[in-house]
Amino acid sequence: MKRSKIKEILSTDSFEYKAKVAGWVRTFRNNQFIALNDGSVLTSLQLVVDFESMDKELIKNITTGAAIIAEGTIVPSQGRGQTHEMKCEKLEVVGTSDPEVYPLQPKRHSMEFLRDIAHLRFRTNTFSAVFRVRSTAAYAIHKFFTEKGFVYLHSPIITGSDAEGAGEMFRVTTLPPQNPPTTEEGAVDYGQDFFGSETNLTVSGQLEAELAALALSDVYTFGPTFRAENSNTTRHLAEFWMIEPEMAFCDLEGDMDLAEEMLKYVIAYVMKNNEEDLIFLENRLLQEEKSKPQHLRSEMNLRDKLAFCVDNDFVRLSYTEAIDILKNCKPNKKKKFQYLIEEWGADLQSEHERFLVEKHFKKPVILIDYPKDIKAFYMRMNDDGKTVRAMDILFPGIGEIVGGSQREERLEILKSRMEEMHIPAEEMSWYLDTRRFGTCEHAGFGLGFGRLVQFITGMGNIRDVIPFPRTPGNAKF
Ligand code: ATP
Ligand code: MN
Repeated sequence: MKRSKIKEILSTDSFEYKAKVAGWVRTFRNNQFIALNDGSVLTSLQLVVDFESMDKELIKNITTGAAIIAEGTIVPSQGRGQTHEMKCEKLEVVGTSDPEVYPLQPKRHSMEFLRDIAHLRFRTNTFSAVFRVRSTAAYAIHKFFTEKGFVYLHSPIITGSDAEGAGEMFRVTTLPPQNPPTTEEGAVDYGQDFFGSETNLTVSGQLEAELAALALSDVYTFGPTFRAENSNTTRHLAEFWMIEPEMAFCDLEGDMDLAEEMLKYVIAYVMKNNEEDLIFLENRLLQEEKSKPQHLRSEMNLRDKLAFCVDNDFVRLSYTEAIDILKNCKPNKKKKFQYLIEEWGADLQSEHERFLVEKHFKKPVILIDYPKDIKAFYMRMNDDGKTVRAMDILFPGIGEIVGGSQREERLEILKSRMEEMHIPAEEMSWYLDTRRFGTCEHAGFGLGFGRLVQFITGMGNIRDVIPFPRTPGNAKF
């Protein structure tokens, strides 16, 4: 008999048919009821075994964590709490699990503990829900862009360029760490390295996406990016996945419209397709927040918050307007911010972003036209000579989720910006070629996939929405 996934069995109202299932035991009660989970859905299937007729050795091996394959008849459940159950006729324990040493018990474990056993945390309700949602969201992103006629571009992971001009990167080398070859000046001679030059893991696929957009019109990347920054926050990873669309003949307005539409699409798609997971995650969050003081609890439950985000226009305002609000807001005047906002030009910290979104507007916010000095060289200069056509999208509980801009398409202005920011134009000649040959208005953005999944799942720490988080001091598994 062909194995059925539990999701298929639970999704129909047909009964009194034979089926074969396989999965892992969550609990075994009264020597009679097995809760079997195969990860296809949150819900476990209840298998009812006949204790009397069963081999006692076999019964002993039905323990939490054991892998079993079972055959039987699917019937309406007599008990409360489930619709279906399987009257078990054949059962095999294919992988035993010693309950004395199996780390997962049928109880609530802390997120920190589960991070330590990240290889097993897939087997919990919380993490199976998170990773199903993550998968759905990734699919929704591809679906969204494909429907819009974007070309999916694989930008390189090993690069010879540094997109920001100043990013902190992981070096890629095959030179011996002990005695690397050196130049006459005594520096490491990367000319003798694998690629014949210095190479790093990419911090962004944007520059390559720009090259492609200036031929294919609309492209997007969706891949891993790496940052060797020592940011120990709940929103930073050293290895994270980023989505970077880039559009030719598009300005900042079009860029913002696309970002807002995409975020809404993905969130709505997950709400439609992973409802059971979201209900579970919503309750998990409620439980978690019970231990927090009232003012730190969310004002809306998870699904209401997602629906709110889908149904409302994001607020759009300039950096300058945001600074005015922040300068005069209560936490700034009462010196409650860690970084006080004193003047125009200040870089916004997460506390400021979250104030705007969570307290002031109570909606997602898109900030535009940032001072040029706190943004990258490739962003298009405004006529005021002070600000650039940048946009950041700020989300409740997260802060910055998207960073984007209209790109500087004018060769001379771009070159002088690079000079100002000490970016060697010779090494970037390939990038400047797009401005030399058929340049045009274009724009794009980067969406941190982990931060989006954090928002959708309500998980407080980005380490809990990626299977194996890489953070300063940790690359376990
Ligand atoms: P932040 O100020 O939060 O560090 P950033 O300005 O460095 O972000 P960008 O370089 O604009 O971010 O990257 C685009 C997007 O990638 C961000 O909006 C964010 O969603 C995501 N992102 C950036 N750095 C990280 C990281 N270390 N871990 C996870 N996601 C990240
Ligand atoms: Mn950063």
